[in-house]
Amino acid sequence: MYKEKILIIEDDVQIQNFMVYTLENAGFLVESAFNGKEGISKLIKSNSDLILLDLGLPDMDGMEVLHRIREWSEIPIIIVSARDQDREKAEALDDGADDYLIKPFSATELMARIRVALRHYYRMSHSMVKDQPDDTVYVNGGIKLDNGAHIAYKDGNEIHLTPLEYQLLLLFMQNSGKVLTYHTILRKVWGEGYGEDTSVLRSVMASTRRKIENNPAKPEYIETEIGVGYRMKEYEPSKEVES
Ligand code: CA
Repeated sequence: MYKEKILIIEDDVQIQNFMVYTLENAGFLVESAFNGKEGISKLIKSNSDLILLDLGLPDMDGMEVLHRIREWSEIPIIIVSARDQDREKAEALDDGADDYLIKPFSATELMARIRVALRHYYRMSHSMVKDQPDDTVYVNGGIKLDNGAHIAYKDGNEIHLTPLEYQLLLLFMQNSGKVLTYHTILRKVWGEGYGEDTSVLRSVMASTRRKIENNPAKPEYIETEIGVGYRMKEYEPSKEVES
């Protein structure tokens, strides 16, 4: 059976040990690097499937490591950092990180984020090969989106969405479990060059929530990641129907 290999770039020995232990127990192969240079050279030499990257490294900033890797690799990268600053989180995500975990985090949290990142990566590479329109039926909890028929359902009942609400919901269904920054959402739904004005996004989000949430003030589906963007909670079992 194929074992996925995870590369951890982290100088804190205790956190390294915790992650190595958690991942090996979950059946992954693990490789450790304790600074940025070592991390990059290990990535070049071995075929890793995902990277856990600390931002505070002894030889270079983790953001620089992220930028260098993104010059030639699309490998999923999850930032693990003690820096809980919205601007920095958003910047890392906009610059190509797939997710962001704030230390300290639990083994369960770590595993959940890794599963989401790997699944999205495989789905992305799969759809690039397919090269055909996405007529997937997306299901998450009580929300179903039939992208071939262009119809959305909540708890089995059809809901009527405006074109922007539909595009917004589609983006979240395609990326359930993943945090999406304001910047990413604006670019994907409103297009390149729309700018960074989030007021329209906020209002379309509010109207979408009124249609998909039981209580829009306490969203069960699309949660706010304060200062960063939004994340659609992923409900198990996800019964995605392949097209
Ligand atoms: Ca560190």
